[in-house]
Amino acid sequence: MVLFLQIVSKFSDHVGSAVFLNHIVISRTLNKHCSVFTSEIFAIYTALRAIRLLSEKKWIIYTYSQSSIEAILNTSRQSHPLVLSTVKLYFKLQDRNFDILFCWFPGHVGITGNDEADDAAKVANSNVETFVPFQDIDQVLKQTILIKWQHTWDLELNNKLHSIQPSIAGFKPNNLNRRMSVKLARLRLGHTYFTHKHLLNADPAPNCSSCSTIISVGHILSECPKYRVLRRKYFGKSYPDLRDILGEPYNTNAFSFVHDITFMHSI
Ligand SMILES: [Zn+2]
Repeated sequence: MVLFLQIVSKFSDHVGSAVFLNHIVISRTLNKHCSVFTSEIFAIYTALRAIRLLSEKKWIIYTYSQSSIEAILNTSRQSHPLVLSTVKLYFKLQDRNFDILFCWFPGHVGITGNDEADDAAKVANSNVETFVPFQDIDQVLKQTILIKWQHTWDLELNNKLHSIQPSIAGFKPNNLNRRMSVKLARLRLGHTYFTHKHLLNADPAPNCSSCSTIISVGHILSECPKYRVLRRKYFGKSYPDLRDILGEPYNTNAFSFVHDITFMHSI
């Protein structure tokens, strides 16, 4: 039996893949957009390609990539292209009487060749593999779009929703019942029956009787002096930031406050 080890490392500028075979290290550099999984399965594929040129027929491929072994065992038409190539090559080698076993080990420690292969994977070769599987490009595109979307949202400083939810990740599900969950969503949006019913009747926006300013959810929950004593009771401040009340996670005293100022049925 002959040992065969594969090592993979992902860095900011490249993804390194290295295999160790009979004191020889075979290293490859992949496109920086390739995922760790792609480089792991590529290392196994590289190992099989090296094995096919040798006369020794019995091999054990040691890998710490459990996901690669699972992918090889569960192929389908939707499988990663390198998984399909690896399986195809494996069966070709089997037809040529190769006896290849895969062995998973939970880390690098104690395996001969680990340090050599690890060092080789860290060094970027000038000869970079050009392929990037669709799955990896798809992830890169999604990530890039999310970053651009967040950047655009970061500039919306005058948007009332931005102060409550500065992240495009949105709000997490809450454990409120449907009725209360709807009320929380309306408060976060700043759209309630009380503050917006005038639009239905083409009336002027309602003014606060204490401040002579247009009533908004923000005014009621965090600005109007009329409720400062109750705010201190529930939020510890006379004028808390709206984000502290309705942001992620929302203040669990929010509905007690809203109830005490008799605003609950006007949401
Ligand atoms: Zn007021």
